[in-house]
Amino acid sequence: MSGIYVHLPFCPYICPYCDFAKWPLRRSQAQQYLLALEREIDCAPPIRARTLYLGGGTPNTYGGQQIASLTQRLITRFGPFEEATIEVNPDLVTDGDLLTYARGGIGRLSIGVQSMIPQEIATLGRQHTTEDVRAVVNSARRCGLRSISIDLMFAVPGQTVETWMRTLRETIALSPDHVSVYGLTIEEGTPFWSWREREPSAFFDDAAEATLYETAIEALATAGYQQYEVSNFAIPGHECAHNINYWANGEYLGFGVGAASYRNGERSIHTRSISEYLCAVEGGRPIPSERETLRDAAKSGEAAMLALRTRDGVRFRDFKERYGVDFLQFYAPVIGDLRAAGLLDVDDQCARLTKRGLFLANDVCGEFVTFA
Ligand code: SF4
Repeated sequence: MSGIYVHLPFCPYICPYCDFAKWPLRRSQAQQYLLALEREIDCAPPIRARTLYLGGGTPNTYGGQQIASLTQRLITRFGPFEEATIEVNPDLVTDGDLLTYARGGIGRLSIGVQSMIPQEIATLGRQHTTEDVRAVVNSARRCGLRSISIDLMFAVPGQTVETWMRTLRETIALSPDHVSVYGLTIEEGTPFWSWREREPSAFFDDAAEATLYETAIEALATAGYQQYEVSNFAIPGHECAHNINYWANGEYLGFGVGAASYRNGERSIHTRSISEYLCAVEGGRPIPSERETLRDAAKSGEAAMLALRTRDGVRFRDFKERYGVDFLQFYAPVIGDLRAAGLLDVDDQCARLTKRGLFLANDVCGEFVTFA
């Protein structure tokens, strides 16, 4: 077992593009949820894991002490961890919280910034200021958090290459150890989905979005960040070990509503219904989950999809050893099409996405899953 993920789904406000498992914060429900989580954790087999990730939602809707005691419980059950991360929203986290995290065994902070432009922050329905971001980064360093990551978003309605460059420059000026860069995705059922139906011209087309993505790759490379995955850039030594385990098709165990696990070839995802989750845990019953056991071909297709997202790509020898599949031979038709389209580079040892392939990574990597 390599990774433990814990989902803390409450948010003080709901962003209009969000499709995660999240709920508006209600203190009594958040407390009830925390107790259920503790119970789920206590009932899990006492295995060892290398990394911990507290994600959301907005995990820092819980106070520093609550997070520290949850982390201690997880360390006792599954640790010690080589890396422990918490996601935070910059307008809510306090200096006291950050200090408590650091003392409680959390070493990595992932800050949901998205933009440094007030107008874009407002469009995304978020409430922080750029001053909040600076204050959190500075305070996190003073408190001794070892690795600081900032999440940014491009293709936000109203964004331009200039404003995106400003966001990148101001981010780089804060010297985070890690930056994640995601294109806005419009999910069905969200207010942004309805907005795009009404006003498609407010949203970016693929070509304009690709320009923003390439702008980020160049700006971050110039500043010394290495791109080690489609959306992730790090100062060497600060890559996120927890996510690297996902891309390496490693095992992980997820706790909480909507959390995914992957063990012994079986993938399962807990219900996204908070009432179903609470009822099951409190009643001592199995948590309703979707389960899927991956066949060999599906397993190797998924492994190829994940590996291609990374800088190392698919290494043929490792792939054959782990999945018993000759990558070049088995996927020859897909590889041929992707190379012809300029999306995949292949040499005698490995296959990697090209620059254009990186931008279209979801579609390109998905080809290996559907082929099987
Ligand atoms: S803070 Fe994150 S999880 Fe919460 S609503 Fe906004 S995007 Fe979704």
